[in-house]
Amino acid sequence: MKENLIEIFSSIQGEGKYVGCRQVFVRLEGCNLDCKYCDTENTPGSHARCDVETYAGSREFAKLPNPRSAEQTAMEINRLCKEVPHQAVSFTGGEPLLHAAYIREVAKELEVPVFLETNGTLYEQLAEIIDVVDIISMDIKLPSIISKPQWEAHKRFIEVAKAKDLYIKLVVGEETTEEEFRQAIDLVAETAPETLFIIQPVTPYGGCKAASPEKILICQNYALSKLKDVRVIPQTHKMIAQL
Ligand code: SF4
Repeated sequence: MKENLIEIFSSIQGEGKYVGCRQVFVRLEGCNLDCKYCDTENTPGSHARCDVETYAGSREFAKLPNPRSAEQTAMEINRLCKEVPHQAVSFTGGEPLLHAAYIREVAKELEVPVFLETNGTLYEQLAEIIDVVDIISMDIKLPSIISKPQWEAHKRFIEVAKAKDLYIKLVVGEETTEEEFRQAIDLVAETAPETLFIIQPVTPYGGCKAASPEKILICQNYALSKLKDVRVIPQTHKMIAQL
C-alpha cells in the first residue's frame, strides 16, 4: 500500500494536552473540510516528493519520491525514534483519517504510541482503526469557519473516540459566535463530559482575527459550567519557531 506524504519530521507538539512533548509528525495529503484559517497546502496529488528529516531535529530534509509505502514510512519513523526518544508519532494533515487503511499498515510496524490529529468528522474511518490508535486530538469545527456544519458527525466521532485517550480542541476567534460555542459545549456535555476540553485562541491567519481576552474568559466560564476540565492553550510551537 502506498500514499503521497507531505513530510515526516521530529518536533515539539505545540497544541493541546501533550503540548511540549517530542513527537514525530507524519503529514498526509488531503482534507474533507474547508476551514477559513487553514494554513496547510494539502491538495491531493500536489506533492511529487515527501520531505523526510535526515536526523531528528536537524531541520535538514531529503526529498524522497512519492508515493511512499507503509513499510518505508514506518522505517523512517522508527529511525527518528531511535535517534531521539519520542512520546508518540502524530498522524496529521490535512485529515489523516482519509488514509485510515494506510495508518493501520504503518502502525503495526511502530514501537511508539499512535497519536491522531483529526478534524473529528470521519467517524466510520476512525472506527475501522480505533484498535491501533492510542491518543486522539479531535477538533470541533464551528459553522462560522466551514461551509457545512458538522454537528452530527462530531457527535458520532466522540462516541467512537472516547474509548481512547481523547481530548477535544476548539479554536476561538473574533468571528466565533456565542450561540455556536454554546452548541459545541452542550454537544460535548451530552456525549463525553469528563473529556479534557481545550479552548485554543486562534492564531491570526488569512483574515481570521484573534478573539479578545474578555471573550476567551467568557467562553471558558460557559464551558466550565458544563464540563469538568477546560483549559485555554494557544498554539505554542509558533511562539518558539518550531515546525
Ligand atoms: S480540518 Fe485542518 S487541514 Fe482541513 S481545512 Fe481545516 S484546518 Fe485545514
